[in-house]
Amino acid sequence: MGVPVNQKQIIFVSGGKTFYAAVKLSMNQTSRIDPTKPIDMHVHIVGNGTGGTGCWLRVTGWHRPLARLMLRQVGLPGSAMTGDLDGLVVARLLEMMRTSSLGAAVILAQDDVHDENGKVMPGVGSFYVPNDYVLALAKKHREFLPAVSIHPARPDAIEELDRCVAAGAVMMKCLPNCQNINCSDRRLTKFWERMAEVKLPLLAHTGGEHTLPVVRPEFSDPRTLQLPLECGVTVIAAHSGTKSGLTDPEYFHIFAEMTQRFPNLYGDTSAFNVPLRGRHVRKCLVEPLASRMVHGSDFPVPVNGLWAWMRGFVSWKDYRQAQRNPNILERDYQLKVAMGFAPESFTRISKLLRLP
Ligand SMILES: [Zn+2]
Repeated sequence: MGVPVNQKQIIFVSGGKTFYAAVKLSMNQTSRIDPTKPIDMHVHIVGNGTGGTGCWLRVTGWHRPLARLMLRQVGLPGSAMTGDLDGLVVARLLEMMRTSSLGAAVILAQDDVHDENGKVMPGVGSFYVPNDYVLALAKKHREFLPAVSIHPARPDAIEELDRCVAAGAVMMKCLPNCQNINCSDRRLTKFWERMAEVKLPLLAHTGGEHTLPVVRPEFSDPRTLQLPLECGVTVIAAHSGTKSGLTDPEYFHIFAEMTQRFPNLYGDTSAFNVPLRGRHVRKCLVEPLASRMVHGSDFPVPVNGLWAWMRGFVSWKDYRQAQRNPNILERDYQLKVAMGFAPESFTRISKLLRLP
C-alpha cells in the first residue's frame, strides 16, 4: 500500500523493490536536466491547430516561400503546412533531440499581438502557440522544457504568469517588435517585478526580424529592456542585438555595452548561422562577453555554416562535416563548437532557467 509523502513522492512501505522504483521515478521528474549536457534554449514550436493544439499560423506574401524553406530544412514536405503540421514538427524535433548531443531543448510558446492596453489586435499576429500546449508537451517529453509567452499588457498578465509558473514554466519568451511590447512602459513594472520575484527569466527578441511581420521596429533595440533589467529580471537578449537584414540597425554594440551595466543581462547565439547575425562571433568568444553567452538555434530557422566559413570562423573541414548532418539542431551545435564557444556557454542556461 502507498503512503503519499508529498505531491511528487510516494513511498511504498511494503516491499524494498517497490520503494526503490518509486523514489527513482520521483528523481527523474524533479532533476530532468543533466547539467553537463548542452541545452538549446531557443526552439520554436509551430502548428496549424491540427489535433486541437490551439496553435494557428497565418503566413502571407513572401513569408510563404520562407515558411516552405524552413520546413524543408527541418526535413518536412511543404504539404505539411496544411497537414498535421503540429504533430509532424514535434515528432521531427524529438527525433532530432534523440540523435543529437543535446540534453534538452527549451520550446517556446507565442502569444498574440496586443495593443498597449492589452487588447488583442485582430489579424496582426502571424502565428500563435498556446502556453498550455508547450506546458503539456514538456510534461509528456523529457527532452523539452517549456517557455511560455505572455504579452505583459494583458489585463490577466500576472495571473497568467503565476498560473504558468505553477505549471512548470522555465522561461518567458516575447518578441517586443513583432508582438508590440514596449518593455520599458512603466505600467508594466508590476509584471516585471513579479517575474523577478518568481525568478522566471525573460527571453526577448532583439535586432531586426525578417521571418515574421514587424509591428514596431524600434522595439528591436535592447535599450527597451532597461525596465525589466532594473526590476531584477534575468534578461536574455535573443540574437544579442545582431542585425538580420542588410538595412536593419545594428544593436550588437549596444547589447555588449549594456552587459557591463547589467549583471543580469545575457545574450543568445540563436540564428548565428544565417548570413548576417553571426558577424560578431569573435567578440562573443572573449571576455567580458563570453561569460554572458547562452546557446540557442532558433529552430526552425535554417542553419548554414557557409557564412561562418567565409568569415574564417570555422575550417572548411568543420563546415563540410556539419553541413552533411541533416539534423539542424546538431549542425548548429557542432558549428558553434567549431567556432570556439566554450563548453559553459552550452550549459550556462541551466543556472538561469526556473527549474523545479
Ligand atoms: Zn526565435
